[in-house]
This record gives sequence, C-alpha cells and structure tokens, in this order.
Amino acid sequence: MEGEFRKIPGVDRVLAHERLSPLVETYPHDRLVRLIRRHLERERDAVAAGKKASSLSGIAAAVYNQVKTMEMPSLRPVINATGVILHTNLGRAPLSPEATAAMDTVARGYSNLEFNLESGTRGSRQVHIESLLCELSGAEAALVVNNNASGVLLGLTALARRKEVIVSRGQAVEIGGGFRIPDVMRQSGAKLVEVGTTNCTYISDYEQAVSPRTAALMRVHSSNFRLMGFTSEVALEELMVLAERYNIPVLDDLGSGCFLDTTAFGLAPEPVVPQSVALGVGLVFFSGDKLVGGPQAGIIIGRKQLMDRLRRHPLARAVRIDKVRLAGLAATLLHYLKGEATSKVPVWRMIAAPVKDIEKRAEAWKGALGNMARVVDGETMVGGGSLPGGTLPTRLVAIGNREDRNLASRAARKLRVQEIPVVGRIADDILLLDPRSVLPEEDKTVVKALRNLASDWHHTS
Ligand SMILES: *Cc1c(COP(=O)(O)O)cnc(C)c1O
Repeated sequence: MEGEFRKIPGVDRVLAHERLSPLVETYPHDRLVRLIRRHLERERDAVAAGKKASSLSGIAAAVYNQVKTMEMPSLRPVINATGVILHTNLGRAPLSPEATAAMDTVARGYSNLEFNLESGTRGSRQVHIESLLCELSGAEAALVVNNNASGVLLGLTALARRKEVIVSRGQAVEIGGGFRIPDVMRQSGAKLVEVGTTNCTYISDYEQAVSPRTAALMRVHSSNFRLMGFTSEVALEELMVLAERYNIPVLDDLGSGCFLDTTAFGLAPEPVVPQSVALGVGLVFFSGDKLVGGPQAGIIIGRKQLMDRLRRHPLARAVRIDKVRLAGLAATLLHYLKGEATSKVPVWRMIAAPVKDIEKRAEAWKGALGNMARVVDGETMVGGGSLPGGTLPTRLVAIGNREDRNLASRAARKLRVQEIPVVGRIADDILLLDPRSVLPEEDKTVVKALRNLASDWHHTS
C-alpha cells in the first residue's frame, strides 16, 4: 500500500499534464490547484481503501472532464415532441421572437423600469404593462407578479386575512407541483369555507355560508381534471348575482388565462379573461406562461379599489416581477392587441396548425427514420392546467413494436442524449413523437436527431 501511495502524483505534475493545458489558459491558477487537490484527496482515500492508484493521465482526464461538465449549462434547450403543448416540466410556453428580443434589449442595459422619464422622478414598474392588460381585458386595474400561485396568495392575504372565503368543495383542488387551494388559503391567513359536495354545488350552498366574516367568494378553475356524470356547478353569472346582493367581491382563479375562443380550434370552451371582467368579478388571477403564451408571471386584473389593497400589501414586494419578464410579457400581449396571436404566439401557432400541415411534417420526420417508424393518428394535449380533457387531432411518428418491448425506451433514450435532446412520450411500448408541440422552425434539428437515431440503429441491430 505504501508503494501505491507513492504512485500518486503531486499537484504540479497534474497541472503540467498536456491534457490540462487548455484549462491552464482559461482558468485562474488557484482555481485549478484547488480542483486538482480535491481529486488527489479522493485518490488517496481510494488507495487507503485498498484500490490501485490511477495513472497521471487518468487523473488529468478526470479533472478535465469535471471542468467540461461544469462548463456545460445544466439548463438547456430541448425539443418538446411529447404532444403536450404546455408542459410544465419542459418550461411551459415558448416565446415569440418579438418577446425574446424585448427581453434581450431590457436585460442588456439599464431601463426606465421604475423611472418616469417625463418628470424625472420615481415611477412604478407596473405602468409598463397595466394599460395593455386593461385594454385587452376591459379591467380597471392590473398588477403583474412573479407567478399565478403568488398572485393568488397575495390576493387572499391582502383581502381575506382573518376572514372567510367561500369555495365550492369541487374546486378546492390541487393543481400539481404543490399548489393546493386549501394550503394556499391557510398560508394567507384566510379561512376556507368549503360548500357543497365534491360533484354538486348549488347557489344555495354559497348563500347559506355567507356571514359577516365573509371576505370573498372564490371560483377556481379545475385546471387539470374534469368531473363527469352527475355534476352541478354554479355558473359565474349566478355567483355574481349573489355576490352583488351581499356586496362581497368574487375572486376568480382562472389558472390558464385565455384570450381566444378555443372552440374555433375544435377544443372545449375555455373561460376567457374578458368575460370574467365583463361579469363584474372583483379580481381575476391567471398565469403568464400558460395559454397567454408569455414568460412566467402572475397576472391579476380587476377592480381598482381592490387592486390598491394588493399593491400596498408588503407581500407585493416579495412577489414582484423582474424587468426581463415584464418586457417579454408586454411584447406577448401586443400580439393579442394586434390580432396576430395565432400567427405569432407559439402556443397558439401550435393549437391553430392545420392537421394537413402536421401530417406533412410527420411524414418528413418518418422519412429520416426509414422503416423503423410509421405515421399514426393521435391527439395533442394543451396541458398546463388548461382545457382538461380537451385534445387536438394530430399525426404522430411511432417507433417500436410490442415484440421488442425495449425498442421504444432505447430510442427515447437515444433521442434524449442528442446535442439538442428530443423528448417524446411512450405509450404501450411505442415511442410517439408529435410535431404539433414542435415549431416548424425546429424541424431541421428533429430530423438531424432522427437521422442519428436511424444510423445508430442500423449499426447496432
Ligand atoms: C396553474 C395554476 C395555478 C398556479 O399558477 P403558476 O403560474 O404555476 O404559479 C394556480 N391556479 C390554477 C387554477 C392553475 O391552473
């Protein structure tokens, strides 16, 4: 063992190894020395545990590889061929070039974020977005925060702390990722008063629960699940009549926040934001990165008198939005104002894409794979807590068969380790790739990955 210890090189010899010369040019000396020391310590521990000492070139290679792994950004682009357009694990909405350009411009330098150029005095970051949101929705006031979960928390805390909020039992839901209405309610200090039953809630249930301690009636979009069969929900119109009679505001957590008519694309109807406003809802809450198709944000719109209480609350500062996303969101909203959302906002481009275009692209993808794939009919999900149960028709590229159960998972893995990973979904031992959740601009990258997969295949099988 003594002999093995003596084989472990010193820091200087590792540092002088030719393998590390590119690193010596780019990294500070003491950073490399520290890195090498840690490797040598591990080496000594290994030898002490009875292992053989590594060679000098082996240690140099290990140091080099560690640095190269660190240099590779952990967070990087992937291609979403899963057929779920708003995929939370894959970063939800991709942004339009106009939105990313606006974000880039603001990120590079200083901006008038909270500076009034007219008067030369302090301003509010909300002025850059509020008029756009009010114009689009018809609301009196708007406030943008970090994300929808924080928007709802801020709203409940500012308006209903130590008071009661009435929610239908069927809407006391979990959205996923730890957002549960009862938990958010508890966190805000508001008391959740659940009314009705899981499947049926009537207006009389709400009315019986109204008390002097009631701060709000709340509606929550069921987002990612759907009740079927014997069910009854109270329409917003009906809830508004009750709210007005008792002079209690309605808080409407729409989740996704849709501005376009989804039925025009063959989808189930999704409540639209301006409708909630037109009905007189107190505050409407929705995400910036679901059906709006912008960056992560929590958008709150509604009555000015309520919004002022949110603005003044200390929590507003804790959940504020940053300048970069503010710029991206404004650029995204402008697409709606110009009436060009279905041709510019990526999630709406995907929703609006005709099946015959998808078919052509699926055939081109299949072409790159030769006889290992076929094109089949399928369905794209919108996802992201919107349109539960609603799907769009699509054509899928299918890889694999039931005889070789591993084929699909091997192909899926191969596609995930490409330079730009392509992520599909596996159903019944078949790997399915959906062009609808991929922008046509990305097809070149997909085809390249598929060619790699095919050539690999022909070499190994
Ligand atoms: C998605 C969703 C949320 C949470 O929104 P985030 O932007 O993810 O914070 C809250 N409520 C509903 C109904 C949702 O669908």
